[in-house]
Amino acid sequence: NEVKSKRPTYPGLEKYEILEKMGDGAFSFVYKAKDLETGEYRAIKVVSKHKLSSSQRASVLKEAAIMRQLDHPSIVHMYAFIETDENYFIILELVDGGELFHQIVRLTYFSEDLSRHVILQVANAIRYLHEEAGVVHRDIKPENLLFTPGPYVPSKKKVVRPGDDDNKEDEGEFLPGVGGGGIATIKLADFGLSKVIWDSKTMTPCGTVGYTAPEIVKDERYSKSVDMWAFGCVLYTILCGFPPFFDESIEVLTRKVAKGEYAFLSPWWDGISDSAKDLVSRLLTVDPKQRYTIEDFFQHPWVTQSDTKIKRTR
Ligand code: ADP
Ligand code: MG
Repeated sequence: NEVKSKRPTYPGLEKYEILEKMGDGAFSFVYKAKDLETGEYRAIKVVSKHKLSSSQRASVLKEAAIMRQLDHPSIVHMYAFIETDENYFIILELVDGGELFHQIVRLTYFSEDLSRHVILQVANAIRYLHEEAGVVHRDIKPENLLFTPGPYVPSKKKVVRPGDDDNKEDEGEFLPGVGGGGIATIKLADFGLSKVIWDSKTMTPCGTVGYTAPEIVKDERYSKSVDMWAFGCVLYTILCGFPPFFDESIEVLTRKVAKGEYAFLSPWWDGISDSAKDLVSRLLTVDPKQRYTIEDFFQHPWVTQSDTKIKRTR
């Protein structure tokens, strides 16, 4: 079997059949794999140790240690962590639709209903991290949000956007050939930059607070707001199909982000509700003290005044 022989084999992963590659990172590969004992499919993140400095190795161990503590339906589950002489293997729940990023590219933009369906699941993951686990993710973006394809999700309101054929039937998000075109579930992945900031039992900062400097205590307090900013960027992006901050020049882009300089560009935002725009603006607020927290998000009319089936968990 020629195809099979080209697949990599790893000492320590004998119990798995390695299938296709699903993702590429700077220091890792993610493969689809089959557990030969149970027949179940998994995603395995393979990190080669020899490319890593000792601090990078420590951060892989931290990623696994944090994931081991987590248990939520909207967060990719880690089944096991294996260390060999050569590699680290993170055995993960397989999320087979791929990255939300690619679904945005395929569909151009999401209706408000599909956006709500997606963003509520992300919000539930963040609420669990911030309020229960005491963890900040720090790398929320469409590449780290994975989805399982689901049934067609209709858009209730006909929205005409630039390039749309005016007479076209409302097709919602259905596109043939992309697993029904809809999105069933969304799961947050990649805890490579995540950090424990809050003791989940006492809900106080980690470490001995008595000797911790004010800027550290405040920093930890505001690091949750970092996730909320990124969450706002994701919401903006799925609603219109492009990110709030973009520029060819990294200097210009940095300046725009620092000032919070974004716009609801016409004509792309013309068909989107004022309520959705209001919510985006409360997330993309430059002052972290004024920015919406995850609890604020769940109180916003765009979230509460809807009949979406996905409700907040717990
Ligand atoms: P990196 O730190 O290199 O960004 P990630 O954990 O984000 O590593 O994984 C890289 C990519 O691999 C993801 O963007 C996604 O495309 C794919 N991937 C990661 N985990 C899974 C999974 N559990 N199921 C399916 N694909 C995954
Ligand atoms: Mg990633």
